[in-house]
Amino acid sequence: MSVSKTSTIERIIALANEPMVLLDKDFAILYANASFHIKFNLPELASKNRNFLEVIESSFDTHPLKLLFWDVLKTKSIVKEYEINSKNSENNKISFNVEAIEADGETFLLLAFNTNKETEQLQSFLQSVLNSTNYGIASYEAMYNNHGMINDFRITYTNPEVPRNFGLEPKDVIGKTCREVYPGIFKNGIFEKMVKCVETGLPDSYEIAAIHNNKTLWLNATIEKAGNAVAVTSKNITHEKTAALEIEAINALLLNKNKELEQQLLKEFSESFYSYGNGEEFFSSLLLEIATKTKMDYVLLGEVQLNELGEEIIKSISVIAFGEIADNFKYPIKDGPCDEVIKGHYACHPRDSQKLFPESKTLSDLNVEGYIAYPLVGSSGKVIGLISVLHQSEIHDIAYIESLLRIAAKRSEIEFERLQNEKLLEMKNKELERQNVELASFAYISSHDLQEPLRKIQLFASRILFKEKANFSDSSLAYFQSITNAANRMQNLIESLLNYSSMDASEIHFVPTDLNTAIDDIKNNMTDILEKKNARVEVGKLPTLSVIPIQFQQLLTNLISNGLKYSKPDVPPVIKIDAELVTSEELVGKQFWKLDIADNGIGFPQEYEQQIFELFKRLHGKSDYEGTGIGLAICKKIVQKHDGFIRAQGIPGVGSIFSIYLPVV
Ligand code: ADP
Repeated sequence: MSVSKTSTIERIIALANEPMVLLDKDFAILYANASFHIKFNLPELASKNRNFLEVIESSFDTHPLKLLFWDVLKTKSIVKEYEINSKNSENNKISFNVEAIEADGETFLLLAFNTNKETEQLQSFLQSVLNSTNYGIASYEAMYNNHGMINDFRITYTNPEVPRNFGLEPKDVIGKTCREVYPGIFKNGIFEKMVKCVETGLPDSYEIAAIHNNKTLWLNATIEKAGNAVAVTSKNITHEKTAALEIEAINALLLNKNKELEQQLLKEFSESFYSYGNGEEFFSSLLLEIATKTKMDYVLLGEVQLNELGEEIIKSISVIAFGEIADNFKYPIKDGPCDEVIKGHYACHPRDSQKLFPESKTLSDLNVEGYIAYPLVGSSGKVIGLISVLHQSEIHDIAYIESLLRIAAKRSEIEFERLQNEKLLEMKNKELERQNVELASFAYISSHDLQEPLRKIQLFASRILFKEKANFSDSSLAYFQSITNAANRMQNLIESLLNYSSMDASEIHFVPTDLNTAIDDIKNNMTDILEKKNARVEVGKLPTLSVIPIQFQQLLTNLISNGLKYSKPDVPPVIKIDAELVTSEELVGKQFWKLDIADNGIGFPQEYEQQIFELFKRLHGKSDYEGTGIGLAICKKIVQKHDGFIRAQGIPGVGSIFSIYLPVV
């Protein structure tokens, strides 16, 4: 069996401990032993046929080597202990013997690398560090396209940690390109970072989430340029990151819970308003609640006022000091933080208030450090006051306090407005009362005083008529009759007015009264007119009510009389009186006795319902229907004296219904 020379050389190389490699005359690797592969960090299979100079060119200047190899080949010589320094580091040098060998009719180059013990130890130490570290360390050599642009990186070295993250081993990836092994780097921006590092020489670092097998892998990495390559040191921070993310999620949850809790507290706060009462009581309850909730040293609500000099000041309406209701006081607006509040702004100075407003006597008197306030805006849009918290140390819970004050300010504005309206209404009521009393006394006095001359006119008129009637011509008699009629009408009017105006002063004495009996009495008193008008009064079952008897009799008499008076000329009047228990729509839930007095008369247009109850208001002319326009005004007054109200419904040509509502007690 003949054995070729080259295979013999291969076996020698395989046997050798030191790194050895056999190159052809173009320096392509024909055969290399394991030590060689370790020394140059090459996967065994990947080295075959690769140009040796290309393999090492990223670390060593290959030009002198090329010259050396050519020389050795040409002279068929041997060169020993040739040393060459690494491009990257002075301390990293390689030393080798190189010999040209003739075998099987060809010339080869045999390289045997010298190793000394120290470097070997250092290398194996380094190797073990690289293998055992949980940092990923890898070197990627830049690859260029035809235009000289980097389009990929070749993995020239990696320790196990990097490929392990992706379920691979170093031998699976060394020699391959990033596009083949780690295509993700072209999508997440890392490729660009590596290119930039090669081009600028500047290191970079990044944190990245890589997805592998549906799991997220977090890596923290730094990139450094090494020759034409980048060295990437990475750390798998998935555990830390997941923990951090979990904490973040828990924090978010807590924040949400806090917000919910705060919302709940604010809701409870708003709901508590209902139990606060009115006016001063409302404000002190509100402020006490704020003080309890915020633990602020002072809570103050004040309104803007003008002092004697015409300057705007704050007059407190309610003050809580250290949880207790305190005395109200006044203080100037200028020089203090409330100046901006009065201009309509929310003010928040959680600390250093006295330093910020050194001129404010209020802040220094109360020794205030933190100040937060909201303006109170009136319906006209003008600032009418403020609500504030003042604290002797720094205020921390700003957002919560701000929310409380905002809600409290809104509610206080409403209370302010309500109070103002109440005051206005009270003033108007007093004025009205005064005017009514004045009017009543005027009406009483004037009608009382008119009675005397009127009686004299009536007396002398009847005497003249009695004595001189025979001497009067027909026309004089008619004129005289008119004088008497007018005087009688006037007497009627004066009596009605006196009746109306003396009603307020008349004695009020409620007596249980059977209304059926009362109506019977009225009917008896009115027999003449009922007969004359051919009228019918139909009465249903009426209750016994507690009323002022004389007034009630007048009320019913007035309404029945009107029913007879405003009847249709050719239709006999029918007046129906009924009663029923109702629940009034006007006063929700309250029960009333409703007494209806309905007639079949001429009726009236419904839009005059309110007016007919006014004094002297008449819808029908004096020539058609005699009257004073006082009857229904008296009815209204009587019903009001009974704590009730009266309504009227009319349909012209059909009839009218007057309804008296009296509360059930
Ligand atoms: P008067 O002395 O004019 O009757 P009242 O105060 O009693 O004064 O009534 C005011 C006005 O209401 C009357 O002038 C009349 O126009 C209208 N009115 C009152 N009662 C009736 C009724 N039963 N039917 C129609 N109109 C009525």
